[in-house]
Amino acid sequence: MTFSKPTDSDNKHKAPTSRIPPDKHRINREAISKNALFVVNKLLQSGFQAYLVGGCVRDLALGIIPKDFDVSTDALPEEVEKLFKRSRIIGRRFRIVHIYSGREITEVTTFRGNLPHADDDHPHSVRSETGRLLRDNVYGPVEEDALRRDFTINSLYYDLKDNCILDFNNGFNDLNSRQLRIIGDPIQRYREDPVRMLRAIRFAAKLDFDIAADTSQPIFELSHHLSHIPAARLFDEALKLFLSGHGEKTYHLLKKFDLFKQLFPETSDFLDDPFTDRFIGQSLVNTDQRLAKNMGITPAFFFSVALWSPLQKRFQAIKKNNKPDAACLQEAAQSTIASQIASTAIPRRFTTPMRDIWHLQLRLPRRQGKRALKLLDHPRFRAAYDFLLLREECGDNTDGLGAWWTLFQEADSQKRKSMVMAIPSSSFKSKKRPRRKTRPR
Ligand code: ATP
Ligand code: MG
Repeated sequence: MTFSKPTDSDNKHKAPTSRIPPDKHRINREAISKNALFVVNKLLQSGFQAYLVGGCVRDLALGIIPKDFDVSTDALPEEVEKLFKRSRIIGRRFRIVHIYSGREITEVTTFRGNLPHADDDHPHSVRSETGRLLRDNVYGPVEEDALRRDFTINSLYYDLKDNCILDFNNGFNDLNSRQLRIIGDPIQRYREDPVRMLRAIRFAAKLDFDIAADTSQPIFELSHHLSHIPAARLFDEALKLFLSGHGEKTYHLLKKFDLFKQLFPETSDFLDDPFTDRFIGQSLVNTDQRLAKNMGITPAFFFSVALWSPLQKRFQAIKKNNKPDAACLQEAAQSTIASQIASTAIPRRFTTPMRDIWHLQLRLPRRQGKRALKLLDHPRFRAAYDFLLLREECGDNTDGLGAWWTLFQEADSQKRKSMVMAIPSSSFKSKKRPRRKTRPR
């Protein structure tokens, strides 16, 4: 496949540009990653145009430390790849170049051009029936690239040659008035890529911005378009939404805009139940706090919280068949996860610990003999214990089980023995296992 070089020739809708000089913005060159500076400078020295763009310019201008640096250039992906030893072209729908230095990745994109009309046949741009862009490798000049970005505040370009910000969409004004505004016709832009609706919520929560009326209003009507998005992409987006430090606020906004149900269709049926809503909200409060303190988090914990209520419903239904609890839970977990991954694909490296956390909720009440000590050694004990405390905090009655485990962890061996002896026998009545069916010979 060949790709045409960006040109100025067919730039029909040149947007008015403004250049914001260094004394009018607060971007400090010192705050820019050395690797990103290297990438931009090398592209410039090789005769290409190159700018820092997107979230890093937006965040730096707001005084926030960017989480990564993106670069935009008129060099084609192959030309970029040739210039940098440790680089790789990724993506087919949207070809971008990743440049690696240590653990940092600088993402370089070639300026996107105006999209051909929806009805036109074009080899580098393909749409679905709903208007979704399935492929977009049409290149153009920087002015067109700016119009192809999602929100005005994400379409600011930082020019390292003179430290000015290039603004084609009045994004700097929106940044100062804390407005999130989609570029172009909102309905068309959401149809092209429904994930932009989730991105709107994410940025509004992260930056504490208002969403402009024309940007928020079509979301209710178009939210169902998210069902066409591949489940793996929705999983990546879910991680950014819930586990980037603003999860609780994001959760409330997603509910408000009826988007939560696109990510968790089954859970959304339980949100009227105060326990479920509190459970998810409080888990995100805790996650946000942990992230603020640079403490570790695992996506498995959040997903096991988010799917707990649908799991319980299935578990109770299966239990009626009088199978052992553990087998019922395993079956319920299997079908809860199977149903969820149709919309948000959770990788196996997370579903395995999720199952453990759920299974341990059955084991935590059974503490007689050596069981309690054994449980302490389980690799997922800590997560399961935190899960139990959260359940209790949100209204689940467990007869003080969480407090017992708190004491047990702090106790010496003598005290532990007496604690186990003192467990009322009613709390460990084990169910009789049904006799194994013998196979017909
Ligand atoms: P952050 O990295 O803080 O999450 P970001 O704005 O940098 O935010 P990225 O996903 O890194 O987000 O994307 C970089 C830039 O690419 C965005 O700022 C935006 O200009 C553009 N972009 C990303 N996704 C889309 C999209 N779905 N539609 C249009 N433009 C997009
Ligand atoms: Mg970014």
